Amino acid sequence: MAALCRGKHRWKRTNCLHVLTRNLTGNYDYDLVVIGGGSGGLACSKEAAQLGQKVAVLDYVEPSVKGTKWGLGGTCVNVGCIPKKLMHQAALLGTAVKDAQKYGWQISGPICHDWATMAEAIQNHVRSLNWGHRVQLQDKKVKYLNIKGSLVDEHTVKGQTKAGKETILTAKNIVIATGGRPNYPTQIPGAMEHGLTSDDIFWLKKSPGKTLVVGASYVALECAGFLTGVGLDTTVMVRSIALRGFDQQMAGLVTDYMDAYGTKFAWKCVPKSVDKLSSGALQVTWTDTHTGNEHKDTYDSVLWAVGRAPETKALGLDKLGVQLKRETGKIILGSDESTSVPNIYAFGDIGEGRPELTPTAIKAGKLLARRLAGHSTELMNYDNVPTTVFTPLEYGCVGLSEEEAEKRHGKDGIEVYHAFYKPLEFTVAERDASQCYLKVVCERAGEQKILGLHFTGPNAGEVTQGFAMGFQCGATYSHLLQTVGIHPTCAEELTKVSITKRSGLDATVTGC
Ligand code: FAD
Ligand code: NAP
Repeated sequence: MAALCRGKHRWKRTNCLHVLTRNLTGNYDYDLVVIGGGSGGLACSKEAAQLGQKVAVLDYVEPSVKGTKWGLGGTCVNVGCIPKKLMHQAALLGTAVKDAQKYGWQISGPICHDWATMAEAIQNHVRSLNWGHRVQLQDKKVKYLNIKGSLVDEHTVKGQTKAGKETILTAKNIVIATGGRPNYPTQIPGAMEHGLTSDDIFWLKKSPGKTLVVGASYVALECAGFLTGVGLDTTVMVRSIALRGFDQQMAGLVTDYMDAYGTKFAWKCVPKSVDKLSSGALQVTWTDTHTGNEHKDTYDSVLWAVGRAPETKALGLDKLGVQLKRETGKIILGSDESTSVPNIYAFGDIGEGRPELTPTAIKAGKLLARRLAGHSTELMNYDNVPTTVFTPLEYGCVGLSEEEAEKRHGKDGIEVYHAFYKPLEFTVAERDASQCYLKVVCERAGEQKILGLHFTGPNAGEVTQGFAMGFQCGATYSHLLQTVGIHPTCAEELTKVSITKRSGLDATVTGC
């Protein structure tokens, strides 16, 4: 590793000499330098090291606008999947405690939730994961550097510590896995000054209180779901539709369930301003785009869940000519995760057109490491990626939405099998199961290949994961019917689905 001289001109000279030397000799400090120690970057660097490569991974967390900071592991571990799923679990337990009384548990006194206890336990778990990642890197002989990386050329990365100390690293290959960060609607007065994002919500020590969640996709609905579930007055402000890109019948079931669960929805509304009152409360003014009327209400917190932007600012990509997609700012990639500049690769949330999901980032990172180490030529398959939205009623799916299948195959070219079912655990608890539903979208002709599978209900992620394998193997409707169910489960309903939408028959499952 060569130290970078501070003076501009001296740095240039040192760097030129350095570049010259390694171009002649082909020697680099590392085989691989990975910028970004999140889901993808960690998987890629550990895999490469296991294959005998000399690897360094740079991870640096720029604090959120509110000043929230966290450790190694990226979005998923610190401000994404992990704390989110644990807060979702906290909310589900609230429902379970209510159900428990119907099952004979004697619970005296009112049931209430303490945010600080939950937050502390989850934050401690996340810290243990941060530590675990550091240990794993050490065990696997990956050099971890807590520095912010930028590109100098296609073999050179400059790193800078928080204190401004600079380091130069050279590598045969460079991988960018810097993910993304939440957007703020900067055009809305007070949005940035008074609002939170998902980078903050999981690290709050005190309850956010009455909360307005702006946005209506994964992050908005999941956060609104657990906030409602732990007893907070929660409103979701939706400017257009919920869960854009997902099957809209299923999206409707998810939001109907949330509505019945206690989450409020302000449909077709757009925020205009956020003002802090002398009481400390946040006054939000918004426009109802249906009527054009303006409304105001006060909240303790406003959570912006209005999408994410790729983290490319600090990387110096333009200087090297790494091509970005203008509309999204993400890096344009080949199927082998190559950028427009030789020896520079990228994947995960930073990659244009890639799913913003942890398992795809991990798998893509491992496969890239194997290819760069010359151990494999296998490319990442981004088709048939299953996903689950962890809303109070979970929604899991794989493949096409009904709308997309209809667009591609025509209304007469698809057959949709569907069922409304009642999870057994809902019966004794006397819970409403109106939104527990599944549908299997198939080609109508031939063997009725399954095009899309959708499920709302308890443990939708667990259910969908298993069926995703069948889907990956090209399952047909008859394969589904040949599959023996496991009784009594919710997943078995998928193996029994027989009513077509076309028939117009009642799709409610009755009996076992
Ligand atoms: P990241 O995990 O974002 O890692 C990038 C890392 O690079 C970060 O640590 C960042 O600080 C660092 N970095 C950035 N710039 C630099 C630089 N110049 N130098 C050094 N380091 C840098 N996905 C799921 O599959 N399931 C879920 O349930 C789920 N829930 C989510 C919930 C929320 C609230 C959010 C926001 C996301 C969720 N996701 C979920 C998405 C998932 O977290 C991301 O898809 C995944 O983390 C992307 O991994 P990555 O490696 O591309 O980037
Ligand atoms: P997203 O999917 O891009 O959705 C952004 C939402 O904000 C949309 O509802 C959008 O509405 C709305 N919006 C955008 N700008 C707005 C504005 N100015 N005012 C009001 N509303 C606005 O973003 P996300 O929910 O942050 O999720 C990002 C990614 O993280 C997802 O694609 C997903 O892959 C990943 N993620 C995964 C999980 C999981 O696997 N369970 C969970 C969370 C996140 P319009 O539809 O009108 O544009």
